[in-house]
Amino acid sequence: DAPGILRRQAARESSARTYARSLPIVPVRARGMTVEGADGRRYLDCLSGAGTLALGHNHPVVLAAIRGVLDTGAPLHVLDLATPVKDRFVEELFATLPPELARDGRVQFCGPAGTDAVEAALKLVRTATGRRGVVAFTGAYHGMTEGALAVSGDTAIRDATGAGTGDTVRLPFPQDYRCPFGVGGAEGARIAGHYAGTLLADPGGGVPTPAGMIVEPVQGEGGVLPAPDGWLRELRRLTAERGIPLIADEVQTGLGRTGAMWGVDHAGVVPDVMVVSKAIGGSLPLAVVVYRAELDRWWPGAHAGTFRGNQLAMAAGTATIAFVREHRLHEHAARVGARLAGALRGLMPGRPAIGEVRGRGLMLGVEIVEPDAAPDTIGARPAAPGLALAVRREALARGLIVELGGRHDSVVRLLPPLTMTEVQADAVLERLAEAIEAARA
Ligand code: PMP
Repeated sequence: DAPGILRRQAARESSARTYARSLPIVPVRARGMTVEGADGRRYLDCLSGAGTLALGHNHPVVLAAIRGVLDTGAPLHVLDLATPVKDRFVEELFATLPPELARDGRVQFCGPAGTDAVEAALKLVRTATGRRGVVAFTGAYHGMTEGALAVSGDTAIRDATGAGTGDTVRLPFPQDYRCPFGVGGAEGARIAGHYAGTLLADPGGGVPTPAGMIVEPVQGEGGVLPAPDGWLRELRRLTAERGIPLIADEVQTGLGRTGAMWGVDHAGVVPDVMVVSKAIGGSLPLAVVVYRAELDRWWPGAHAGTFRGNQLAMAAGTATIAFVREHRLHEHAARVGARLAGALRGLMPGRPAIGEVRGRGLMLGVEIVEPDAAPDTIGARPAAPGLALAVRREALARGLIVELGGRHDSVVRLLPPLTMTEVQADAVLERLAEAIEAARA
């Protein structure tokens, strides 16, 4: 009764519901990259739980790990007590970390979602430094709780809720296509670095030394914008020089998504704090903060929470991390992602609705623009959110699930499982190309 389910839930749920509104399907079965609706239709899933499902839906190793816990009679709820399940999870997670962080790093289990771990990271650096302010970036997305909103770029929600205004200093996040400085490329990144340097060099100019800086190695919700490596290294240099903890929000970029194990690995940057969630729970809710031992200055109970350390999620996560490591899925993601990005760029001649194809690994974005508008001085045409909506609708009609993002909701985001094969990638390409054509018609 798919129409009935859709109708009842639309009537009962809050007006804030999002995915259910944009994807009017009723998933009843799923395996790997394929989702089957109640109407029997099958879809290729390039949303993957907003980038959560590194191994796709219901991967056998994940299901076996979950059954393994259920079948041994192990307790499912243990607060943050020591268990063999947690022991294995921490070992497996630490084996993926940059060695400098793994050596004597600490882990704090947080509430179940990415936003909880962001809150913990902000509290951690404030507690450790005794300072308040946090440097964040335009277009950032860190979650929906108040502290995370305060460092996010979505001003509409912040303004409406008054969430955490005042303590955040926002700096421009560099990007090529819509470069805030009108130049793009390496020069745009250099200017963005200069902004950060000026701010941090002159805290006396109205800005006290911040407690930390939080950055996404690739902005996801912000429109799939990779942080230029040189810029990230410059942020690391500047923050290290001034004793400001650098927080990498790896909630979406983590565990191989970008073609490296962690998003910061591309630039060879080691942050002081890493926020990790989504993929590490193997499709179940799990979030942690990993950080350098020197920052571990909070007291017992300083970050409590009933639902930290979910046993099923840790078991599913351990199996997922082990599979990614064993099969070097980050390298697979880099290969398949580069090939898909190249093929998507190959669609651009003759399809002026595609403004830019960007991203890293299997975190890709296709910016949909006004096809008939004149380009600005650096070649960008105006964002086309209406057309992007039509592309998503036409994609769904062709059995392809994609989400939109970016400041204008004009970027088609592709976050397929890291296990996606080349054959599946070709199908994604074909369906998306058709959807773009159909949307313009
Ligand atoms: N940080 C980043 C970079 C994210 O992409 C997200 C979610 N898309 C979050 C934080 C928040 O995670 P959650 O939705 O699990 O609270």
